[in-house]
Amino acid sequence: MRCARCDELIREGEQYTTYDNPGASFAGSTVYRHATPCPRVQTQTAPKPTRQPSLRHR
Ligand SMILES: [Zn+2]
Repeated sequence: MRCARCDELIREGEQYTTYDNPGASFAGSTVYRHATPCPRVQTQTAPKPTRQPSLRHR
């Protein structure tokens, strides 16, 4: 299972909490999270580097 907050695997023996998420649109609506505070996964806000057109043509 995977922690919904930090997106890391929750290994056997690790403390975790479960939440039922009835509003989830996908199957398996149970959300797992580490019981210990874990860093929230950082989402990249910077735009992805776009592929630059090749300037070496010519
Ligand atoms: Zn976590």
